[in-house]
Amino acid sequence: MTEYLVFDEENNIHGIEGIVRNITEHSVTKKRISSMLYSDTLTGISNRLHLETLMEKLIVDNYKKNNTFSMLFLDLDHFKHINDTLGHDVGDILLQEVAENISNSIRQEDIFARIGGDEFVIIFKDMKEEQLVMTVEKLMKVIHNLRTINEYKLRVTASIGIVMYPQDGKSTVDLMKSADIAMYESKKRGRNTYTFFQNKHSDSLQNELQMMQDMSLSVDNNEFELHYQPKVLVKGNQVIAAEALVRWEHPTLGHISPKEFIPLAENTGLILKLGRWVVKEVCKFISSFNVLSNNQKMNISINISIRQFQQENLYEVLKENIAKYGIDGSQISLEITESIMMENFDEMVEKLNKIKTLGVYISLDDFGTGYSTLSYLSKLSIDELKIDKAFVDEIPINGDSTIVLDTIIAMGKTLNMSVVAEGVEHEYQRQYLEDKGCDIYQGYLFSKPLMEDAYVDAYVVD
Ligand code: C2E
Ligand code: MG
Ligand code: MG
Repeated sequence: MTEYLVFDEENNIHGIEGIVRNITEHSVTKKRISSMLYSDTLTGISNRLHLETLMEKLIVDNYKKNNTFSMLFLDLDHFKHINDTLGHDVGDILLQEVAENISNSIRQEDIFARIGGDEFVIIFKDMKEEQLVMTVEKLMKVIHNLRTINEYKLRVTASIGIVMYPQDGKSTVDLMKSADIAMYESKKRGRNTYTFFQNKHSDSLQNELQMMQDMSLSVDNNEFELHYQPKVLVKGNQVIAAEALVRWEHPTLGHISPKEFIPLAENTGLILKLGRWVVKEVCKFISSFNVLSNNQKMNISINISIRQFQQENLYEVLKENIAKYGIDGSQISLEITESIMMENFDEMVEKLNKIKTLGVYISLDDFGTGYSTLSYLSKLSIDELKIDKAFVDEIPINGDSTIVLDTIIAMGKTLNMSVVAEGVEHEYQRQYLEDKGCDIYQGYLFSKPLMEDAYVDAYVVD
């Protein structure tokens, strides 16, 4: 039986041809039906069906009258992380509060809907761009409000994509697609920001799609390469280890940075194949370096991304390659980020401890940019803390102190970890690190990442 939705002036459902008779027999009011069909049960605002219905109607109306409207697509940042670590009940209350705060900050006539887990859409009719920007900035502030939920003090941010009808899409589907692309652009730009859709965003998405398709073949065709960046003692500049960093020379797009393709590889799952390739290549390199250097036993670190850590049996992959290439587990370090540990903490600790039985070292990369708390850190058997470049950049040239960096160095030492500073580019930064007792550094000041041959030429001591 075909069913049609029929609407009245307030966009309430008026009836469903075909089943409406049956419903009336059960004396359920039309209003109740419309609210059941159209509202999001968690927040009470419109749901996706309602939004799409209202958009269709707007498009038909505006098409007739030649008016425009703008649409915001909001996605909360790191919401999954909050859900996973603090529980779904906290996540649910957070969504309700965010929805309520947004509702209170927009006009009665604006359309507001929740269309997925942490995704919201707002439609503004007849709003000039200047006012739109002011409204978006106000919304970002409201979303960032400090909230206390079940005794947790929480702040969230959102990534926002903005589209205009009709230039960014003439149909509901096209508008949603453009809004999604613009929102994704905000995520790429570091989150907590808004982006107006531009055609070039979909061009860059096209490029990304091409990259994703090519990546698998590129691993087989050896288009990836590893470069090695020395880790150096802050006192005396002696090279004590190195980090393997992957490079991709794409046949038509040229050099692509890992910052671009690693997140894509994570999304497509290709990171597993690429990651296994990196482990194999590093073990092979360590083995040949051992021979060339008369068993100097250099330690090489491998970056491990979140999906790899969660889904791959890293223990098996490492064990197999360590045996195959006849090297010591202690010649490998794994660089993981804080976000890896925060998802399913107990399960991650178990995985980490199993990997450590191979003798492999664990290093916490980009430290200071995530959410680690002291209590979490002390429960992990981490050997090394890598301080993110952002903190090194804050070292003042005049020798004044920078409290955050000093605190991280002191904390790492208290927890018995070796402390590595990343991205050191200037001698005054190195000097500062020496004064504060930081052990190791990496950075262009000493050396950029080098191709395998160049690394061997430079650091094999005859
Ligand atoms: P990361 O692990 O934090 O690596 C440090 C990045 O900083 C590298 O960028 C390195 O080339 C760069 N760098 C080092 N010293 C300096 C400096 O003095 N100044 C500046 N401006 N930059 C410096 P790269 O090679 O582009 O890698 C970016 C990120 O991509 C890495 O950050 C890592 O998270 C990821 N990555 C690289 N290789 C792999 C890999 O094999 N597997 C995975 N999963 N991720 C990788
Ligand atoms: Mg790293
Ligand atoms: Mg890093």
